[in-house]
Amino acid sequence: MYLSNSEEAMNIIDLENISKQLILIGKKVYERGYVDANGGNLSARVKQYIIIKRSGASLANLTLNDFIIGDISSEELKGASIDYKIHRAIYLLRKDCKCVIHAHPIYTTAISLLFDKVFKPLDFESKYYFGEVPIISCDHFKLHDIINSTPKILNKGVFIEKGHGVYAFSNSFSEAFYIIERLEHAAIIAFLKMNELHFKQFKSNLT
Ligand SMILES: [Zn+2]
Repeated sequence: MYLSNSEEAMNIIDLENISKQLILIGKKVYERGYVDANGGNLSARVKQYIIIKRSGASLANLTLNDFIIGDISSEELKGASIDYKIHRAIYLLRKDCKCVIHAHPIYTTAISLLFDKVFKPLDFESKYYFGEVPIISCDHFKLHDIINSTPKILNKGVFIEKGHGVYAFSNSFSEAFYIIERLEHAAIIAFLKMNELHFKQFKSNLT
């Protein structure tokens, strides 16, 4: 584990415990196929600190050495995931959130290419849970600026970056994971529904 800015953080928070929770969540995200290779990232906020995956590490097999901690007041964090600024923007605007997960679920990402501004799930459970999910289309490296200028996109605890993936955030590690799982479920159903005409054509060819 690499510390940035504050060795004293070691005395304030249980870094190892928090990191172990992130390791377990990262493994679940990878094993569910929501990321591949070293894609995606995740972090936790404890008091004024952000613990975030280091750049290049795979969620498949994170170790305690794959996390970097910095003070949330720092705009840059050396060695951290390239999404550090996005995580930081979310934590600064959503004081209740303790965990951010970014992943690339296949159907969620695919569906984001087919809609503008919002994804509206079709199935009952997902409609009830999400209503609709914001889709943000922008230069990825300016996404933190978009978040700061339009904080309402954080209201649902999740948003999709068009053609890229999802950011989920919560005061609970497991809930942030469930948000990604629920959204991918909704995207699969919507994707299958959109293929209705193909299924009808296929069926008519069989009869
Ligand atoms: Zn990504």
